[in-house]
Amino acid sequence: MRLIALLLICIAPVVVFSQRTVIHCGKLIDVEKGTVLNKQTIVVDGTKIVSVENGFTKPLSTDKLIDLSDKTVMPGLMDSHVHLESETSPNNYSQRFTRNVADIAFTSTIYARETLKAGFTSVRDLGGNGVNTSLRDAINSKVIVGPRVYSAGKSIATTGGHADPTNGVRKDLMGDPGPEAGVINGISDARKAVRQRYKEGVDVIKITASGGVLSVAKSGENPQFMEDELEEIIKTANDYGLKVAAHCHGTEAMLRAVRAGVHSIEHGTYMTPEVMDLMKQKGTYYVPTITAGKSVADSSKIPNYYPPLVQPKAATIGPKIQSTFAAAYKAGVKIAFGTDAGVYKHGKNWLEFVYMVEAGMPAMEAIQSATIEAAKLIGNWEELGSIKTGKIADIIAVDGDPIKDIQSMGKVKFVMKAGVQYF
Ligand SMILES: [Zn+2]
Repeated sequence: MRLIALLLICIAPVVVFSQRTVIHCGKLIDVEKGTVLNKQTIVVDGTKIVSVENGFTKPLSTDKLIDLSDKTVMPGLMDSHVHLESETSPNNYSQRFTRNVADIAFTSTIYARETLKAGFTSVRDLGGNGVNTSLRDAINSKVIVGPRVYSAGKSIATTGGHADPTNGVRKDLMGDPGPEAGVINGISDARKAVRQRYKEGVDVIKITASGGVLSVAKSGENPQFMEDELEEIIKTANDYGLKVAAHCHGTEAMLRAVRAGVHSIEHGTYMTPEVMDLMKQKGTYYVPTITAGKSVADSSKIPNYYPPLVQPKAATIGPKIQSTFAAAYKAGVKIAFGTDAGVYKHGKNWLEFVYMVEAGMPAMEAIQSATIEAAKLIGNWEELGSIKTGKIADIIAVDGDPIKDIQSMGKVKFVMKAGVQYF
């Protein structure tokens, strides 16, 4: 029987046949125009959107119909700042010494799934130990379910800086990590660290331009790179077509990073009007991560959740990000949605929308920041970020109307990535 079947397959004429998917959308958010359209039909063939039509088009007998006539449909969401390798826990600091890379890899698959289920079809993973890059490949080859990942691999820091992997450990375990491990001092190290990441196949370079909250180090805001180091990183990254995302809380660090030409400032806590002006002038994106700020501020109130050096930084810096966001938005700084997921629980990325709206950004603009704007920052806007003929079919739907009630962003009921329905 098997042989006959095989023969039949071999001699059968090649018929190009793919089932189209016809999606009836009660409401459809056009993020390019900033409008909501009623009763629209999206036709998907393979991985692409082949048409967007007015009204509910009758499907052909061979089409698959998806009825979202009672939902609001929009492009797949993008989070410009996540960490899929980890999730907040008071045990995170001791687990640095007990977990193997394989342990990290297994749990990262769960976080990836949670993220996609929440409607986030693309993410930038801004720092891990390299599992993030393998996770991207496993998702792309459909071994596991998750969002499209743009990975930074391991972040680049300076000795004792925010992403120095041996901060706070016993002296004999500290060693002297170098550019391969993402720790640089001087311009030759800077070049090597970027090239090492290119060799490892990253999509974006992440640097920790100032101190940070969760590292076991005293300052959460001091500048941690010299101008020449920043310039060298950016020059080298540009040679390889890689954008540079800069973690930054402190003002001086931000001024240096923006002047040197980073593509985005992450967190941006102590962003002054001078920094905002410079960012507008240079076209630098701001990725706020309000959710992470609020989450670390909450956790800082739980005794022993963070080490003693970390607790005061979490309590001071965390609560400030939302008002920084409000000021930056008012000043007209370009904003791309990003949450720092992993610093809080994965799958709750939608809370950022609520905090953005609370801080004065209209719901439509918040959704645009997580679609077309994030796509511009990531660099995939020609293929993703809006629902348009010819683009990749990343489509989600929520209950209710998020333009009227932003809480709807937490009610994701349909997720399609590259033409495949996952949830
Ligand atoms: Zn982060």
